[in-house]
Amino acid sequence: MVQNHPMASRCMMILLLSIVCQSKPLTNSLYHKLLSLPIADNLHVDPESICAASVDFGLIVREIPAVVLRPSRPEDIATLVAFAYNESTIPFTISARGRGHSILGQAMAHDGVVMDMTSLGHKWRGATVFWSWSLGHYADVGGQQLWIDVLEETLKHGVAPVSWTDYLYLTVGGTLSNVGISGQTFRYGPQIRNVYEMDVITGTGDFSTCSPQKNPELFYSVLGGLGQFGIITRARIALGQAPKRAKWVRMLYSDFSAFTMDQERLISHHGRDQDEALDYVEGLLLMRRNSDGWISFFSLSDHQRLMSLVTEHELLYCIEVAKYYDGRTESTVDKDLEKILKNLSHVPEFVFEKDVAYVDFLNRVRVEELGLRGRGLWKVPHPWLHLFVPKSGIADFNLGVFKNIVLKKNITTGTVLIFPMHKNKWDDRMSAVIPDEDVFYAVAFLQSSGFRDWQEFDLQNKEVLRFCEHNGIKAKQYLPNYSTEREWMQHFGPKWRAFQESKARFDPKMLLSPGQRIFNHN
Ligand code: FAD
Repeated sequence: MVQNHPMASRCMMILLLSIVCQSKPLTNSLYHKLLSLPIADNLHVDPESICAASVDFGLIVREIPAVVLRPSRPEDIATLVAFAYNESTIPFTISARGRGHSILGQAMAHDGVVMDMTSLGHKWRGATVFWSWSLGHYADVGGQQLWIDVLEETLKHGVAPVSWTDYLYLTVGGTLSNVGISGQTFRYGPQIRNVYEMDVITGTGDFSTCSPQKNPELFYSVLGGLGQFGIITRARIALGQAPKRAKWVRMLYSDFSAFTMDQERLISHHGRDQDEALDYVEGLLLMRRNSDGWISFFSLSDHQRLMSLVTEHELLYCIEVAKYYDGRTESTVDKDLEKILKNLSHVPEFVFEKDVAYVDFLNRVRVEELGLRGRGLWKVPHPWLHLFVPKSGIADFNLGVFKNIVLKKNITTGTVLIFPMHKNKWDDRMSAVIPDEDVFYAVAFLQSSGFRDWQEFDLQNKEVLRFCEHNGIKAKQYLPNYSTEREWMQHFGPKWRAFQESKARFDPKMLLSPGQRIFNHN
């Protein structure tokens, strides 16, 4: 693994890589072996392909694969995996790569084959909408599909997935291998809870259709399984009626316990009268230092008073909610929302509301992305940290982490999210790991850094993890990053044994997703 490459040396790396990779066709014996397969035309060893597959969104880790496969159909994937499993005299690993929006090399394959799933494109399988008596509306979508494309296709039928990520330019296979969470999770569960069936190519190169009824062990292992058991080529996703618009509200708090009490109250409304339920609940940490990440939501005329408030308190907390509506509920949505938000303890005079199209609400991070791209701040290192923090530890977390680490160090840029969810909306049979408490919080430090100082953020992340460990806060990493077997055992806890058994059954030669570093340690 290569870490620590500032921008200048990044260009140098690309140059070096070009030189190295240009000679690869001559020296790359794996490539030569693979040329004998019927996928020869889909194999790539040119410097650009290799370079693109050796980095990810995090821009912190670099692993150089021997070959990139751009499959045209799932059979190409099965051909490669079956060859690696049955015939190859050269051992090599294989990583499916969705959009490569991992942070620490999880979709990479050192000296192996990276499969660029997006090359399956729309041709092989877009999103097809169906209806049945038992499931209502559902869509069959390719594992390589971006959620934004799934949204666009399903909206043509007046329906849409119910559970989302904040950012929609991620692949279905990539998020289902992790979890897929956003402000809808409290109500509908994470994305992995909204899948009825999948087609998977396992580590033996076999095709399997799995669901809670058919091959349930594979089904539950793959969901949240960090790509360890198979490559998802199709997922059957739950859909609901698509609303037209969203009332999008932000409220500010200076008091953390009032903030969490109100968040927990708001997520407890679900399941009762639909009109009394919100569709989305998240939260943010506001500081002067990370104002770039939150100020753009608010209108220019409010910026000054917001900055005064945040300067006065140093830390503010913001609850962000949305209530969707359509023609049927247009005349009642304001009243319903007023009822839901009545008696909350936010700072008076600091409630901000927008009324936006449903698509614009779901696709809100795209606007930020384009802004950051425009300022050259998108393709920079992202030393992110995602945690699930149990409710019992969230007050200590505020004091020990937000106040005593983040505020004092004063390096955090970008968005910091904090929002609660219910354990009973998850399914413990799936591989994903969460704290053992009825309510827990997602806390995400979505930090951007320079190429020279990402280590400083990394040290802060480690300090946050240490704080949790030393203070008995049983937090779990989301998008986990560990390098030793002991750490993975601790992470999975009671699920570790089943995880290992599934690996032995579905990927006995440990070919798949080596970049997670669970079974493959360099
Ligand atoms: P990749 O990074 O390409 O792959 C991730 C892992 O999945 C790898 O191990 C890979 O081998 C494996 N994999 C990929 N495709 C398949 C497949 N078809 N079958 C089996 N395994 C596969 N997450 C959330 O939950 N909520 C959010 O709101 C959210 N927002 C994000 C915003 C941004 C800007 C970014 C960069 C990430 C965000 N994430 C979020 C995290 C995101 O869900 C993960 O990084 C996810 O892995 C990215 O998907 P990807 O398609 O790029 O997967």
